[in-house]
Formats: sequence, structure tokens, C-alpha cells
Amino acid sequence: MKKIFIFLLLMIFIPSMFMPIRTQAKTIADLKAELDKILKEEAENNANIELNDSELASIQSEISDIYNQVENITSEMKNIEEEIVQLEEDIVAKDKSSKNLMSSLQTTTGNSFYIEYLFGATSITDFIYRYSITEQITSYNDKLINEMNEMIKESKEKKEELSNKQKELENRQNTLTSKMKILEDAKVKLYELGSTLEQEIINAKAVIKMYQDKGCGEYDDISVCASNMLPPDTKFWRPFETGYVTSEFGYRNAIYDGNGNLIASSGLHEGIDLSNSLGSKNPMYSIANGIVARIWYDIWGGNQITIHHNVNGKAYSSSYAHMSKITVKEGDIVTKDTIVGYMGSTGNVTGPHLHLAISTGLRFTEYTGYSAYVARCVNPRNLINFPSYGSWKDRVTKF
Ligand SMILES: [Zn+2]
Repeated sequence: MKKIFIFLLLMIFIPSMFMPIRTQAKTIADLKAELDKILKEEAENNANIELNDSELASIQSEISDIYNQVENITSEMKNIEEEIVQLEEDIVAKDKSSKNLMSSLQTTTGNSFYIEYLFGATSITDFIYRYSITEQITSYNDKLINEMNEMIKESKEKKEELSNKQKELENRQNTLTSKMKILEDAKVKLYELGSTLEQEIINAKAVIKMYQDKGCGEYDDISVCASNMLPPDTKFWRPFETGYVTSEFGYRNAIYDGNGNLIASSGLHEGIDLSNSLGSKNPMYSIANGIVARIWYDIWGGNQITIHHNVNGKAYSSSYAHMSKITVKEGDIVTKDTIVGYMGSTGNVTGPHLHLAISTGLRFTEYTGYSAYVARCVNPRNLINFPSYGSWKDRVTKF
């Protein structure tokens, strides 16, 4: 019984002892499934963009509607104010005319009237007539004045009502404006995601085609059917999600630290320096699909790795320096989503950053010496899109 058990154990373990360890056993069908997933994400994102756009459009139309309403209310209020001014002027005029009539009646009456009456210059009929006319006119004026005062009161109430309505509309407009701001921010994010997904789709399609061109069948293990081929890719991506350029590729003067120690000698800075505020918590990805060719340490570059790439059929090597931690090993197949390690300040540096260099051909396979390497280094900006100033916020958005 015990013998059978040992035999069974050997049956299970011996084959796996001789099987090569593969980090990635993928088929074209797997790659197509991955592509479908991205296409689905893109469709969802497009639906979200549409929804966001229609919400924005409806808010914009409501805001413009409110704008028109406020404009109408403002002009209505202006009319009412003018009416009030007119009514007040009319009241003053009527009041004055009543007063004039009264005073003219008084000057022609009073003592002088009796004297005139006594001397027969005027008659009592005359007096009564004049008196009653004056009274009719002034009471008519009083009636008008009362009516006009009533109109002013109504107008003021109407104005108050309009002013409340205007405040209400302005509050609604403020609410809508802040809602619009949120939707517009969301729009920017959706479009950014859209462009990332678009890039991923182009890339995934091109990679599938390269394996098909290499003769890989739908269910062949691509690392077998394309064993002599570096994992293909079509485009380099930035090595981490957010960051900025701290030092460009090119000739520069020697750099010393605060104590006068040499950090970098003068000459060609054969890579580009990139950083962000995450320091050693900053995960760094391979800039393209590839194979980890070399991992080493030296006092200048600290912890370093070099990855071989095949981008659009051309061989490149990317080298990463000053890493705090390396999370891959030599021979690993990496994709652009593989974290290869973390940013750091190992070696000779003034602060944590990634020194990223790209050389043509396969470093450490086709050439090893430093001068041979430097001669093949290209400005990473020629292959990776970095903003000319400021930060990037994802790995693919174009600047
Ligand atoms: Zn550097």
C-alpha cells in the first residue's frame, strides 16, 4: 500500500520536475479573449460618454432657459419700476392741480368775494358754481390719486414676487452649474479612459497579428510557436501612472550633492529621469512587452534591470536604474502591465527617481560594454510620449 502511494506521488511530481517553468502560457484565443474584454470596456465607456453628454446637454438647455427667464424678469421689473416712477409723478401732478384749484378758489373767495358780492360784482350762483366745480375736480383728483396709490402698491407687490422668483432661478442655476462642473470633470476622465482603451485595442490587435504572422494557430502556446521571437509590441508606454520629467536626455554638466560629492559626471545623460511624490511606493511597469534580460547592481545606477523588446519588429532594450525593489527575475516574460519593481534612490542620486534609458538592439546579448551601450542610447522622448512640462496622469494619453 505504502509503495503504491510513493509510486503515485512520483507519478505526480516527476513530470512537473522536467517541465519548463513558463510565466505565461498563452494562446491566440487567450489574447482574443483579452481583446474582447477591452472592447467591452470601450463599449461601456462609450455608453457612459453618451449618457454624460446627454445629461450635460439637458443641463445646458435648462441653464439657457433660466437665463432667458431671468432676462425677461429683469426687463419686466424695469418696466414696473418705470411705471411706479410715472405713477408717482402723476400723483404729484394731480395733487398740485388740486391744490392750485383750491388756492385759486380761496383767492377769489374769502373777504374779497363778499366785498365783490356786496358791490354786485359777482353773484351767489357764480360762487356756488365755482365752488362745486372745484370740489368735483379735487374729489375726482383724490379718487385718481387713491387709485394710483393702489396701483403702486400692487406694482410693488408684483416686483417683490418677481424678485423672489429671480432668486429662486438663480439658486437653481447655481445648483445646475455645480452639477455641470461635476459632469464636465467626469467627461474629461471618460475621454482619457477612452483614449487609453483605444491604444490598448490597437496594441492588442497588432500583437495578435504578429503571432498569427509567425504561424501561431488559435490554440498554440505562443511562447512555443513563437519561441524564437521576443514578445511583440507596437508602442512604448510611460513606465508609471503619474509623474514628471526631472532631467532630460542629453549632454549636461557634472552634478554634485550638497557636500560636493560627484553624483553624475559631465557628459551624455544617456536616459531620462522621471519621478513623482510616491517615492519607493511608486510601482514601475515595463514600457513594452518583453523579456527581462539582466538584473544587477552597481554604485552608480544602484539596483538595475534591462528588458529586451520587439517593437514593430525592431529590437530595443530598456534599462531602469536606482530601483528600491525589483519584482521580476531574469528570463521573465513581461507585459506592459507587469510591475517590474519600485522607484528608489539606490546608487548615486540626490533623490528617488527612475533613470530610464532605451538603447537599440539587445543589450547584454549583442553588446555589453558601457561605451557600446551609450552609443546605442536614444532619447526616450523619441519613443515615449512625455509632456514637455508638467505631469502626466496615465500611461498613454498623448501630449
Ligand atoms: Zn538619469
